[in-house]
Amino acid sequence: MKKGEREKVFSLLENSLSISSEYQFLILDKMEKIFSSAGDYEKYGEMLKKRLEENDYSPQIYLAYCKFLRKTGKKDEAVIKLKEFLARFPEQPQAMMLLGDIFLEEEHIDEAVEFYRKLSRRGVNTKKPFVCTNCGYRVDEMVWRCPKCGKWDSVKYMPEIE
Ligand SMILES: [Zn+2]
Repeated sequence: MKKGEREKVFSLLENSLSISSEYQFLILDKMEKIFSSAGDYEKYGEMLKKRLEENDYSPQIYLAYCKFLRKTGKKDEAVIKLKEFLARFPEQPQAMMLLGDIFLEEEHIDEAVEFYRKLSRRGVNTKKPFVCTNCGYRVDEMVWRCPKCGKWDSVKYMPEIE
């Protein structure tokens, strides 16, 4: 993809972030891939930061920004942000997982163990953020058709955020 085309795709994806919060994680994932493969990863981070500064307090965008900070080596900042996030959404599984991973990388083993222990107490649903709105069946990844009841387009992204 050429630079101009890439920017066009990026702005289309950015617009769709505002209209479909349900698929935000998929859109963010795509944006991250496009720009990291083009060696323009910072641009992805800038977009996330800007949205957060403009008060788009979407948990998905916030977490994506924390992941970006971690990948670009700003781990201290990522830890601060994740702790802020967890003060607002206590025990949110993705944030806890990310924080646990950073502690592990930084060899803060005790803190990592504490987070993983809290996570494991939350039960199996934390690992299956997709749920069928027709029958309630939970799955690990996005599927177009529910494997249990067979309904199309009924599976939505609904992580358990408290
Ligand atoms: Zn179903």
